[in-house]
Amino acid sequence: MQTKKKESQSKRLKNFENLLRSRLEELRNHVDQLRREMVVEDEVDDEATQAFRSHNREFVMTTMEREIRNISEIEQALERITKKEYGVCVACEKAIPDNRLQAIPWTRLCVDCAGGGIKRNHDRTLGQPVFGSSLG
Ligand SMILES: [Zn+2]
Repeated sequence: MQTKKKESQSKRLKNFENLLRSRLEELRNHVDQLRREMVVEDEVDDEATQAFRSHNREFVMTTMEREIRNISEIEQALERITKKEYGVCVACEKAIPDNRLQAIPWTRLCVDCAGGGIKRNHDRTLGQPVFGSSLG
């Protein structure tokens, strides 16, 4: 029955969509919180406290950057769900297995293309600047 299959497929996508949305909200709240914390800046004379703060600030910045990147990946994943392109590897165009999607719902690469598996002899291709170009 085709209609039934379609139904379960959209149910499956809905499931991932929910996963992505709750993660997105979590991240947005956290980034908001971090932003608010960064603004708090009362005067301190104590050098140790200052050093601690600037170190802490760096850590917060790194966390924020990572989370903002993650937010944008999730947004793109949600977009792919809308376009019905979700769950397909953008590099080799094969279907990404569900267990990988469950672990990383916003992934757009299969295990092979992400470099986490078999091919280790080549340089890692992680961190290629894919962002920016896709924002239009
Ligand atoms: Zn692939």
